[in-house]
Amino acid sequence: MKTVTYSKNVFIPLTTVCANNCTYCHFKEAVSEAKIMSMDEIQDILQKAKEAGCKEVLFTCGTKPEQVSDFKKKLQQKTGFDSWISFVIAACQEALKQGLLPHSNIGVVEKDELKELANYNASLGLMLETTADLKAHTHSPTKTFEVRRDFIAAAGELKIPFTSGLLLGIGESRQDRIASLEELKKLFQQYGHLQEVILQPVDPPSNSHLFTPKVEVLIDTLQLANEILAEDIAVQVPPNLVDLEEIPVELIDDLGGVSTLTPDYINPDHQWPKIKELKNLFPEVEFQERLPIYSQYLNQKWIRKSVWDCLQSEGWLDEYRAKRDFSKS
Ligand code: SF4
Repeated sequence: MKTVTYSKNVFIPLTTVCANNCTYCHFKEAVSEAKIMSMDEIQDILQKAKEAGCKEVLFTCGTKPEQVSDFKKKLQQKTGFDSWISFVIAACQEALKQGLLPHSNIGVVEKDELKELANYNASLGLMLETTADLKAHTHSPTKTFEVRRDFIAAAGELKIPFTSGLLLGIGESRQDRIASLEELKKLFQQYGHLQEVILQPVDPPSNSHLFTPKVEVLIDTLQLANEILAEDIAVQVPPNLVDLEEIPVELIDDLGGVSTLTPDYINPDHQWPKIKELKNLFPEVEFQERLPIYSQYLNQKWIRKSVWDCLQSEGWLDEYRAKRDFSKS
């Protein structure tokens, strides 16, 4: 029986401020209108997430918000913190205190910040998006291939279990998608840290020059991903952006984080399906919950002390070490 995994998570968008300007963005807001979450708001969501049985907290935000003028002043006023990374780390520590595992995807940060962040996260993520130099990224300095490849490599050097992926339909060609998958494979072969690769169709705003790609493009890229990526990397599609009934389920290993509490703030028009509904739709598939750190990384080579302690106190270490997270058949 085919196994498809998912993580029961809660989605916390720490701020909508971002120094980049991608043409397909739904998320970014100007500092004057933007949201910065307070620690009280975060604690409230964490508590509800724990009560609802979530295990993962996905922390996201715009890239390098501290580079946007007036952000630091607003951060200080709202949270009392002077440093953005210190605030993110404090939020991760709160999650661990509540018995939840942080997975942060907060854009490109400095290497010393990455190192510190790793101490309080079960895993981290950054989409490669593409190897191509595209118009959609003209005003997004951290979206060049070199910057993102080097960041994913830095995470590998630091032994951080990692999530990456491709964004489909942002102006890239099929050849670019092949090149992107091959780059991710190279990074995995060098460092062994890529636990999953997401294939995410873009959902551009209505005034964008971009369109969500046809399902044929996704199926083709899924086939390429299954051919190119090593057996040990899970191929993931987001079930709120993709109609799973339109694609061969044998090409999918994982659905990523599925939140029962919070919306997908990055793609606000697309709510997650309920796992119960998916089970009814696909009786031939076993949908299996996993942690934000895959079972093959559940050892002290890949996990820092505070995450290890959380895993142990929740009893998840033994439970999930005994499972194989995904199967390719
Ligand atoms: S980096 Fe993310 S949040 Fe920032 S503009 Fe691009 S898509 Fe939007």
